[in-house]
Amino acid sequence: MSVQRHDWTKEEILAIYNKPMMELLYDAATVHRKNHDPNVVQVSTLLSIKTGGCSEDCGYCPQAARYHTGVKGNDLMSVEEVKQKALQAKAGGSSRVCMGAAWRNVKDGPEFDEVLEMVRGINKLDMEVCCTLGMITENQAKRLAEAGLYAYNHNLDSSEEYYKEVISTRGYQDRLDTIDNVRKTNVTVCSGGIIGMGENIEDRAGMLVALSTLNPQPESTPINALVAVEGTPLEEEKPVEIWEMIRMVATTRIVMPETQVRLSAGRTQMSKEGQAMCFFAGANSIFAGNKLLTTPNPDVDEDMKLFNLLGMNPQKPFTKKVQPQSVEAKDSEYQSLGEKPKWTRPEHKIERNEAAKEKGKELRNA
Ligand code: SF4
Repeated sequence: MSVQRHDWTKEEILAIYNKPMMELLYDAATVHRKNHDPNVVQVSTLLSIKTGGCSEDCGYCPQAARYHTGVKGNDLMSVEEVKQKALQAKAGGSSRVCMGAAWRNVKDGPEFDEVLEMVRGINKLDMEVCCTLGMITENQAKRLAEAGLYAYNHNLDSSEEYYKEVISTRGYQDRLDTIDNVRKTNVTVCSGGIIGMGENIEDRAGMLVALSTLNPQPESTPINALVAVEGTPLEEEKPVEIWEMIRMVATTRIVMPETQVRLSAGRTQMSKEGQAMCFFAGANSIFAGNKLLTTPNPDVDEDMKLFNLLGMNPQKPFTKKVQPQSVEAKDSEYQSLGEKPKWTRPEHKIERNEAAKEKGKELRNA
């Protein structure tokens, strides 16, 4: 097994990213084979349990209430509906369900209690459960862990420097603090980012420095290609070239040898050949289902056809870590603290986010 290094520098990562393509692919595939079965890919289903109406200003996100993107918001899905969807996902070959709620941060109360029930319900289906609910406190992380959560997703999105160009409503340190809170439990960390937001290669390397120097490194790292949605501040960004995606996946694989590298948003823009090259370069996880929260994604059937074509198999659940025990609410050791933590609200403004907000207001009032 390759050893995890936690002292990667930006220069070293840039040198890897910029290698001649054939060398980069060879090196990444070699690391990949030492640490993973190259013919196995984890299939996860992403479920939006609460869509839209978010108070944040993430420049890429159609769920931010301040932009005008036509995304229809909904209330929290019921526990029963979530269980049904998880069963369908399992039947379709998924081993993991990731539940996403468009929240700035988790608030203690009845909605969080329901999410805990959802976690218990999916864990009982013998599937890995992941949540992405925004910022969480240590006590909330412990309650999720106790309910049987397998992974918590909280993306760093980009480098610390470029983060400020995309989001103004919270700081990079908030992200790291939430990851730190998750690390105080046995829940695994899923954290990655997005390319194609106008960042430069140094920013991509900077994000990989931030992720790879976490100790331990995240068990899962999604690499998203921006899906530019009309109405968001990033609506005019050009699609990412497949070669950039391959370079990013390969570099991630080399600096984070044991991590599951996940091909996430932007897969509809990739050809079968492009996806196959990403698998060769070390991607070993995908999101299934024809929607990723609110943006399009290939159909499950298409994915299975691709797997057959490439002779690949979906990963079984709990192959990397044992299934967490799920404690019932009545036996819970951790109670709601009714915390009202003060996450930061940085004071900088991002002009394009402001402009998109104003345009959104006008369109809504028209
Ligand atoms: S990415 Fe998450 S936090 Fe940011 S606006 Fe969208 S739903 Fe809200």
